[in-house]
Amino acid sequence: MDFSSEQMKRLTELGSDPEDIPGGFSDKAEANRAFQSLEKAAARLCAEGVLRHMRDVRRPEVSVLSETLSKALADFGFTEVATPLTVSRRFLERMGIGQDHPLMEQIFWVGKNRAMRPMLAPNLYYVMVDLLRIAPRPVSIFEIGTCMRRETRGASHSEEFTMLNLAEFGLPLEGRQERIRRLAELVLDAASLGGGMCSFAAEESGVYGETLDIVSPDGLELASTAMGPHPMDGAWGVTVPWVGLGFGIERLVMARAAARGERFGLSRAARSLSYLGGWRLNVPGKEERT
Ligand code: ATP
Ligand code: MG
Repeated sequence: MDFSSEQMKRLTELGSDPEDIPGGFSDKAEANRAFQSLEKAAARLCAEGVLRHMRDVRRPEVSVLSETLSKALADFGFTEVATPLTVSRRFLERMGIGQDHPLMEQIFWVGKNRAMRPMLAPNLYYVMVDLLRIAPRPVSIFEIGTCMRRETRGASHSEEFTMLNLAEFGLPLEGRQERIRRLAELVLDAASLGGGMCSFAAEESGVYGETLDIVSPDGLELASTAMGPHPMDGAWGVTVPWVGLGFGIERLVMARAAARGERFGLSRAARSLSYLGGWRLNVPGKEERT
């Protein structure tokens, strides 16, 4: 007899590795006794983790990594932009996201014609067109910010996540592929995931068509990349070649933890009411722990 699925869920949210959780108990009473003692120990580790986090770390890893990446990109010559959290229906349509598009069902509407942004690309396209008029080429910009999508898949999807989107427009046609690799390397190095740990894989994207994804050592999609000229450029008034890379910061945090040999699910990296610094908060308090 093994632990019930609720018991397994509780132990894993407290940070136990599912592979380390025992099973094969002779009856339910024995399983419950084992659960109680494992739960107590795991909850104590969580409380200690919260205390350690508050003493030594104090900031979410996503925030710290976002700053590290912003700095690396600004040092490399990229300009950071900060655009609105919502986008208009018209902007989504310009991205090819109209009725019948699979992403349409993932949109959080905040009105009939306004949505929480599911990606940064439309806003970056818009700002880019002005910058291409004003500044010498190539124009290199990035944004790091919250995006929202309705998701049904669990372990590596959150409905609110943090995207890093970098875009470079007005590049020569030749060498865009190499440029994508160079920029990917810059971001991965800054995230301590460089040195050939991650790989590229061809993928089909609902928005961009054939794209190149960046994949972590254990097969997690960290980023999707794209390049233009692209059929949707016309809708934005873009006529120059470009490259773009979109990374999920929580995915980078997960991959970095995995590289350290830690199990760190997306729910532990994401915006949360239940975790702090990756540690579950609904554990016994200091009076109850004695
Ligand atoms: P997936 O195939 O994993 O659902 P996607 O291809 O739909 O991702 P993109 O549109 O390529 O996602 O977004 C760029 C990056 O943003 C992804 O590579 C991933 O790192 C991150 N990302 C996308 N959706 C989510 C999500 N729901 N939760 C966390 N990160 C996400
Ligand atoms: Mg993708």
